[in-house]
Amino acid sequence: MKIKWMKMSALMISLAFSGSLWAEPISVVSSFSILGDVAQQIGGERVQVSNLVPADGDAHAYQLTGGDVKKLANAKLILINGLGLETGDVVRAVKNSKITYAEATAGISPIKHEEHEEHDHHDHAGHDHHHEIDPHVWHDPVLMQKYASNVATALIKVDPAGAKYYAARFKNYSAELSKLDAFARQQFNAIPKNQRKVLTGHDAFSYLGKRYGIEFIAPQGVSTEAQPSAKTVAAIVRQIKQTGVKAVFTENIKDGRMVQRIAQETGAKIGGKLYSDALSRDGNAKTYADLFRYNVRVMSGAMK
Ligand SMILES: [Zn+2]
Repeated sequence: MKIKWMKMSALMISLAFSGSLWAEPISVVSSFSILGDVAQQIGGERVQVSNLVPADGDAHAYQLTGGDVKKLANAKLILINGLGLETGDVVRAVKNSKITYAEATAGISPIKHEEHEEHDHHDHAGHDHHHEIDPHVWHDPVLMQKYASNVATALIKVDPAGAKYYAARFKNYSAELSKLDAFARQQFNAIPKNQRKVLTGHDAFSYLGKRYGIEFIAPQGVSTEAQPSAKTVAAIVRQIKQTGVKAVFTENIKDGRMVQRIAQETGAKIGGKLYSDALSRDGNAKTYADLFRYNVRVMSGAMK
């Protein structure tokens, strides 16, 4: 009797460990929440995704923690955005971990910005980074096709048994991205071109601007690290007064005081908050698709 019971428990244990019914999800660490969501959408139940920079966090100014290093060491796959979004510390930690990693923006040709101060016709402040690469690819759902495809390829590489599963989920996600593009086109096309102007805190929306013909004005450049000069701010105040920009927004990842100050000086009204570089905890941007639709709705609403 006793022997029988032991045999039985041994059988149960071996069943539990063989993973015959359901394999343990693979651990994917993503550098920030938007990319993490793309990995979750494509990876479904085969992945367990965690992010370094959390919802509402600022990836440009992120401080790597000891916990992050452990998280990276235990991952099966690490996903980063690339194009300079991640801080040097994060990139170094990813490389030092020796875990397989992939860049979601691989193969996408980025927007390169002239250094911010040189755009206005006032005195140059003498900054030396003349061509800053813009990492905010996710605000263009057309480019996100390649981004998501890179994520699918990376998942298949580390988990080839799931290849069909990932490919099928990628196909669905790709269809959703096409719908996001169609939605944005429809919303923005309803607005006269000369009214398609938006003020935000940092220069995060150039890919959206390029795709849908919107002009974005921002006191801060493509990173949130450098503070805007008084001259830049004064130039923006003049520009807003002259052109009558109606759509003025703060962002979920940063303090809105600069935008509030500009709004006050120009008499513009703040139209709300955009979700720039992270998903949110407030329920408006739980997924990338939510984030994109929300931003398009509030921007187009404010431009009318
Ligand atoms: Zn940014």
